[in-house]
Amino acid sequence: KETLFKAGRKIIDQLEHHNYEGYFVGGAVRDYMLQRPVNDLDITTNALPDVIESLFDKTIDVGKAHGTIIVMMDDIPFEVTTYRLEGDYSDHRRPDAVYFTLHLKEDLSRRDFTINAMAMTQTMDLYDPYHGAADLKRQLITTVGQASERFNEDALRMLRAVRFMSQLDFTLSEETELAVKEHAGLLQHIAVERMTAELEKLYSGINTADAKNIIADSLLKYMPFFKYISKDNYLNSVASSLEAEAVIQIYKARDLQRHLPELKLSNRSKTVIKQALNLLDELNEKIDAKLLAYRYETDIFQLVSDIIKDNSFLNEAGELLSEAAAVKVQLPIADRSALAVNGNSLMAALGLKGGPWLKDCLFAVERQVVLGKIKNNEAEIINWVKTHVKNENGNI
Ligand code: ATP
Ligand code: MG
Repeated sequence: KETLFKAGRKIIDQLEHHNYEGYFVGGAVRDYMLQRPVNDLDITTNALPDVIESLFDKTIDVGKAHGTIIVMMDDIPFEVTTYRLEGDYSDHRRPDAVYFTLHLKEDLSRRDFTINAMAMTQTMDLYDPYHGAADLKRQLITTVGQASERFNEDALRMLRAVRFMSQLDFTLSEETELAVKEHAGLLQHIAVERMTAELEKLYSGINTADAKNIIADSLLKYMPFFKYISKDNYLNSVASSLEAEAVIQIYKARDLQRHLPELKLSNRSKTVIKQALNLLDELNEKIDAKLLAYRYETDIFQLVSDIIKDNSFLNEAGELLSEAAAVKVQLPIADRSALAVNGNSLMAALGLKGGPWLKDCLFAVERQVVLGKIKNNEAEIINWVKTHVKNENGNI
């Protein structure tokens, strides 16, 4: 954290050295004041983008038209953004145009919540025209300006409000909460990916329950995937991640699976969800613990174990799951490549040509080895194959 602020100060120093202003701003100031870890340190300045580029050695143009340049300092990327005002919003998601301004206060006025609308000098003096520090103390999320106007401009802010509730364990101001209820329908204008990013942050927060209450009250029915979930099912699950929420809800209502793509999750998340659902099915089928241990990775066991812990309807599966997770470290092989035989060595040892039998044979061998019925030893495996496996023409 010290190296982050140290590098950030060098940027503000350089701006001030050339008679420009520069401030730390937004989430970093909020998190610094709350003594939470600061990951990205954003800087705001009255210098125009071309000037920012000219003042630093290493810069990346990520959105000059919107005023944002990335400045690399001590190998850390910083978003440096020119003081900016936003024009009208006609689509409830993006301003029709942005304008640069010379006044920090105007830049802060466009930001969503008072706790996100504070700036700090490089010596950590606070500039707080919208009283964000007072709201931090009251643990309150409240918009800069009229809530209904701000949500009408950009509907994503409603979801940002509830994700900050969960992350910070704050409550919404009365006006802000009312405006969420009133404008919930505007969420339909927001790109799914942006909603999903907010939801991922919501689920990783510390008070998901209160945030989910607000969502269930108003936003749920306007969100892809979530709109098919009943309010009760949604409120009853204590999912510890967006992936876990999807697994729980699909488990309860299989039909939901066909709506999963609507969440536009990463391929990784989609795989995790699919495997967790398979594992739940196999737990119900009471598949041997060793086979389960062999088929699923530790992170899937972890996810399903979190789900089972919080859902009484899955009580029975818990024991088998713990057993499978425990035997994972004792498995004779981790995957098929660790098997003492392969297709070629089997054909050679048996003096047979390849064919459909080979795949079945390898599969059977793998199963026997995982179950501990035969040792992972070439001679023993060949011997077992000779006595147990048939090819198309009968016994091998
Ligand atoms: P996090 O810690 O999750 O990054 P953050 O507050 O930094 O939280 P960002 O999305 O990184 O959130 O945005 C940086 C800042 O930009 C915010 O603190 C806020 O001042 C402003 N901001 C971001 N999104 C919006 C929005 N939709 N409407 C208005 N201001 C916004
Ligand atoms: Mg941020």
